Amino acid sequence: MRVERGLLSRAGSLVRRFAPGRSVALVTDRTVARLYGARVQASLERAGLRVVRAALPPGERSKSLASVRTLAERWAREGLGRDALVVALGGGVVSDVAGYAAASYARGIAWVVFPTTLLAQADAAVGGKVGVNLTAGKNLLGGFHHPSGVFADPDALATLPKRAFRSGLAEVVKMGVIRRPRLLPRLRAIAAMERGAALRALPPLIRDCAASKAWYVERDERDRGARRELNFGHTVGHALEAASGYRVFEHGEAVAIGMAAALRLSVLHAGLDPVAAQDVEALLARLGLPTRLKRAPGARFWSALERDKKRGRKRLRVVLCPAIGKAEVFELTSLTSLRRVVQSLVRRS
Ligand code: NAD
Repeated sequence: MRVERGLLSRAGSLVRRFAPGRSVALVTDRTVARLYGARVQASLERAGLRVVRAALPPGERSKSLASVRTLAERWAREGLGRDALVVALGGGVVSDVAGYAAASYARGIAWVVFPTTLLAQADAAVGGKVGVNLTAGKNLLGGFHHPSGVFADPDALATLPKRAFRSGLAEVVKMGVIRRPRLLPRLRAIAAMERGAALRALPPLIRDCAASKAWYVERDERDRGARRELNFGHTVGHALEAASGYRVFEHGEAVAIGMAAALRLSVLHAGLDPVAAQDVEALLARLGLPTRLKRAPGARFWSALERDKKRGRKRLRVVLCPAIGKAEVFELTSLTSLRRVVQSLVRRS
């Protein structure tokens, strides 16, 4: 992975060697297309590549099988073959969909990613997990298909809306909690900075996060052991997203609330110092992330949460943090404590 200013303008020379057929399928969303599409396309064309460009509607609802079909039908009409290269340009939604389409088109073609959100640069673009959502839950259809290159241009983060920027910080907090405690004081400093200074301070944190994620992926590519720790905050987070039809929360916002729940559960079941848990909740709040629920979640939330059980397990698997910088996978024998914790997060007005 490369994290460097100006990579978007050099897309063509960076990816040419991965495109033996000289054709690329550029996949982006409409917002990113408007901001960076022309720049990237021009660079690809300058490198002698034919560009087939497609822009999805922005947002989580594009992470669907319908999007994969739209892309694949278009690529087939344009005659793209197995030697074509998919170039994903955008946030985690674009990289998940484009990567999944690349994994299945012509039984798998190469792809590279230019992540343009903080969340995608620090997390989603690394590790080869690709996929789409089903009505029943997040990422239910997917696979593993590593990109040939990840090129993160921190300059792209300057145009991120505030919400998307903060949402990305949630995954950085997560990495600090489960593996890299030194990220946390740096995030505290960032919370006190103006946006411009924060942007300048971020590249080392992005590198640190991406390297930590790569550490997990090297040990457990298929998500059967250590890599599961990356799901800290995601059990509750994913259920919140699914229960609200992917309309209410940005991914990082749902994960921030999920982390508040996981921290409180960690105090109950894993011996986490309550002061440490409160410190992290306070950091999330200082970064402008939600840690509370407006109302108690309903039946859709609980059934999304219990989907794991339906897949054959008797207990709900959650990731807990026994101490800052450590994580462990834990199986809840009943939902009683989780219900209590979720209730404790409901804001009293
Ligand atoms: P996103 O892709 O929806 O991007 C958020 C918003 O920012 C979109 O509206 C997008 O158009 C806009 N945007 C993107 N780049 C921009 C820029 N530079 N300037 C202005 N606007 C820009 O969401 P996200 O937060 O990047 O990613 C969330 C997704 O990533 C979720 O679906 C999540 O499940 C997935 N994810 C995947 C992995 C993985 O390992 N594959 C890991 C973590 C998260």
